[in-house]
Order: sequence, then C-alpha cells, then structure tokens
Amino acid sequence: MQPSRRAELKASLARVRARIDAACDKSERASTEVTLIVVTKFFPASDVLDLLDLGVRDIGESRDQEASAKLEAVRKCTAGDDLPTVHMIGQVQTKKARSIVRYTDVVHSLDRVRLAHALDRATARAIAESERGTPMDVTVQVDLSEVSNEQRGGVKANQVPELADAIAECASLRLCGVMAIAPAEAVDDEVALHTAFERLTRCRDEILRSHPGAQWLSAGMSSDLEPAIAAGATHLRVGSAILGSRPPQR
Ligand SMILES: *Cc1c(COP(=O)(O)O)cnc(C)c1O
Repeated sequence: MQPSRRAELKASLARVRARIDAACDKSERASTEVTLIVVTKFFPASDVLDLLDLGVRDIGESRDQEASAKLEAVRKCTAGDDLPTVHMIGQVQTKKARSIVRYTDVVHSLDRVRLAHALDRATARAIAESERGTPMDVTVQVDLSEVSNEQRGGVKANQVPELADAIAECASLRLCGVMAIAPAEAVDDEVALHTAFERLTRCRDEILRSHPGAQWLSAGMSSDLEPAIAAGATHLRVGSAILGSRPPQR
C-alpha cells in the first residue's frame, strides 16, 4: 500500500530534524537556536496544511503569484492563529512589493536599495490599510560566489554594510541578518562549503556591530544544512529533503 502523503511528509520531516539535531550536537549548539523553514514552492496548499498539522511553523516560498494563491487557500482552511510564518526566499521584483507584503512575514532575498525602498513603502501602506500588523523582517542576500555572478541574486560581501545601513533607515523594515545560497562552485565540496558559509558569518558579524538586531544567518538547504549549522546558521531553508524533488522548473 502507498503511504499517504502525510505519512511521507511526517517521515521525511523526522529525518531532517534528526540531521539537524546531529549537526547541532556536533557543533555543540542547541537545536532550539536553529529555525527550520520548510520550502513549499511548487507544492500544493494541501502539503502546507499537512505540514502545519505536523508542527511546522515556518514555510518558504519563492514566487509571488504561486505563493499568494497558496497562502489564500491555506488561510481559508485554518483558524487565523494557526497560520505559518511566511518567508519569501526567491528573487523579488520591485513591482511585486505591494502583493508580497500582504502575506509575507520575512523577505530573505533583499539585495538592492531600490527593493528595500519599495518594500518599505508597501509595508507602511499595508499597515495603514490594516492589511498587516507589523513591520517587515528582512535579511540581506549575499552572493558568496567567487567566480561570477550566478544570477541567483545577492550583493557582494563588501557591499553588505552599505545596504544594511540603507535598510536600517527604512521605518517599516527590520533588519534581521544575512542570507545566502551556497555558491555553485562549492556544491558537494565540504571544505569549500564551510569556507563559503564562514564568509557569510563574517558579513553578519560585521553588520552586527552597528545593527545589533541583525543576528540571523539564513543558510543551509537540503544538501548542505550540516556545514551551514557548523558555520552558525540560525535559519535553514529546506525543500526537497522534506517534500521530495520538485517538478522541472520553467
Ligand atoms: C528552493 C530554495 C531552497 C530549498 O532548496 P532545497 O535544495 O530543495 O532544500 C532554499 N533556498 C532558496 C533560496 C531556494 O530558492
């Protein structure tokens, strides 16, 4: 008999939580320091509802159109206080700011001043119109690649302080830290991954001196959560290890 989707999700979630616990043990960190964001992009609202039942509190999405429809469906099926914290982790077009601020709690992929200003204005307006209650939490996305611009977004490490300062000037944004995707050249190379994530940690430590709220290190995905935890990750973004492989993109 085929296991139900929920049983499948329960088992894969337990496997990922066990990996997180083991990696935290190894680094002598408490698992409670690490937030697991389950990346539900390309998967249906029914999976989000199952994950909520299984105790997941944080979900990640990457595209506005898909995410806004999915969250609307989730909202219809849950009591207001059961809603997940929604993390936007994909590249954000400035013109989508108005839509995103309606359902997103955290934008991880903030990588330019123009987007910061658009999100700031859109958040202020959404608060004024009672579409949301709180400022937008954001992290600065850092491009850790030493080879080329990989078109995955992110500012170079040396530009992080300037962007952090600009975000701090935005009344409706709260700077929470930094985020990165492991550079392609480091994939499957444990040492290179560790070096890359340590660079991200240094970026965070640098802005932390003038922005004490910028504690987050959003790093670590299905294939590299262990080195990310070793480097101090506070937020993991895990998709395929929990939901299965995604349908081919675009
Ligand atoms: C899709 C995505 C993830 C999740 O990747 P998996 O390899 O499926 O765990 C994490 N972060 C970002 C920015 C993503 O776009």
